[in-house]
Amino acid sequence: MKLIINEFGISDDSDLAALRTIILFGRNVSTYKFALCSALLKEKATNELKYTDIRDNFLKELINHYNFNPSQYQAGKNKLTSAIDQYNKDKNWSNLIKIAERNIYNNVFDAFHNVGGSSIKKQHILFENDSRSKKIIITDNLNKILEDSNLTTQITIENESRWKIVEEAWKNKLSPNNLVYNAIDENFYSVTHNDRVNLRKAVDVLIPYQHGKCFYCNRKLNRKASSQDDNFPDVDHFIPHTYLTNNSKINPDGVWNLVISCKKCNRGEGGKFESPPSNYYQLLLIKRNVLFTQEHRHSLKNSIKYSLNAETPKDVEKKMKLIFFNFHTISGWKPKIIFPK
Ligand SMILES: [Zn+2]
Repeated sequence: MKLIINEFGISDDSDLAALRTIILFGRNVSTYKFALCSALLKEKATNELKYTDIRDNFLKELINHYNFNPSQYQAGKNKLTSAIDQYNKDKNWSNLIKIAERNIYNNVFDAFHNVGGSSIKKQHILFENDSRSKKIIITDNLNKILEDSNLTTQITIENESRWKIVEEAWKNKLSPNNLVYNAIDENFYSVTHNDRVNLRKAVDVLIPYQHGKCFYCNRKLNRKASSQDDNFPDVDHFIPHTYLTNNSKINPDGVWNLVISCKKCNRGEGGKFESPPSNYYQLLLIKRNVLFTQEHRHSLKNSIKYSLNAETPKDVEKKMKLIFFNFHTISGWKPKIIFPK
């Protein structure tokens, strides 16, 4: 099997794409997703698995990590971590199982495919959850991985690495995405130079290119509106800040990643928030940035090239496609109502 590692250190293997997206970009408040992934990867290819089939491996993985680093839950302690504390003292496995099933375990299957407010597309899912019968139906996507030991090994390593980053970040009370992992000395570094900067002025720069309309829904924007009005212009990180700070060569605050969005699309009901936008908008932004960089005298040309670490318009397109590739297995966010242009 040929693994092509791209410049983001992510191998472009389509069989691993969905699981990789879940591991690398899933929004985590706990590390259960990693524990479940790890437990699933220990299974052989099969049609279905009962919750109880993978339960022990799930808990063992979690205990191993917890004993090494107690920061397995963003909010600190919870019922399961207290139960593990108790188990470490009395070694009462059946009691631990009871508490785990009641509080967490039966819910981890539903949450598994969620990525940043979106869900993995149906054709890419790894299993279907039958919560009534407490079992999961394994799809070909997962079986393909389980049948190939190279793929299983590869994704197990990636899952472990990402798990370590997340728990280490929580231990240090940092967002997992403000840490960079150095594979050479295996330390974590905080990327302080990527701290959020005040972006208000970008509205003035970018709004004319959108003819004063929202990038997503074409709503006419009003700079004088109150910040709580639907037509107030927000500066939006197209790919949310938190997904990009791991890559020090790409500046998430760069013009390449900024669009002007109405308040409703950005942070209103059904708004984008931390979701990556759908493919349609990805292509739209590539087109915009390529146009900006093709224009010989364009004022934003250098800003885009610099923040993307790209030289030519072709290079800009390539870099952006590589970034967006990480989201190709999810449908992505789009507004419910789109106004005519
Ligand atoms: Zn909008």
